[in-house]
Amino acid sequence: MTARAKLDDKGIVVACPSCGQKNRLLFGRLNDTVRCATCKTPLTAPETPIEIPSSAEFDRLIEQTPIPVVVDYWAPWCGPSRMVAPELEKVAARRAGRWLIVKVNTDVCADLGERYGIRSIPTLAVFSGGREIARTAGARPAADVERFVADAIQAAR
Ligand SMILES: [Zn+2]
Repeated sequence: MTARAKLDDKGIVVACPSCGQKNRLLFGRLNDTVRCATCKTPLTAPETPIEIPSSAEFDRLIEQTPIPVVVDYWAPWCGPSRMVAPELEKVAARRAGRWLIVKVNTDVCADLGERYGIRSIPTLAVFSGGREIARTAGARPAADVERFVADAIQAAR
């Protein structure tokens, strides 16, 4: 299990599972195997949902990431959001390296909620190739989330 990944404006910062060195996985290389700069251990793709700090990082991520990005719009005061969180943890672990799961707290990133017209929480959206290809509202179990995302990617091809 890797340490919790952190996102900045260039990529995702993860700790090497072998030596602890912090490495940045560039957004544009999230479909590649990247090795630790210090000890050359291959770094695993993020296995947990990653919190978006602000719209600047979100925009770069969406623009540059070569794999589908699943966005969970949530808020801490919303009960169904809290129910969906552990389900997305499962999806992130199972689809590590193939999909990236990110969380947008609409209290913190109110501008993103407004820009994308998010009217209910939780809302799940799928981005691929720099654009939104599908969205759905409401909490659902991990298997349903996976089906929804896989169908969206299939339909967008
Ligand atoms: Zn290392």
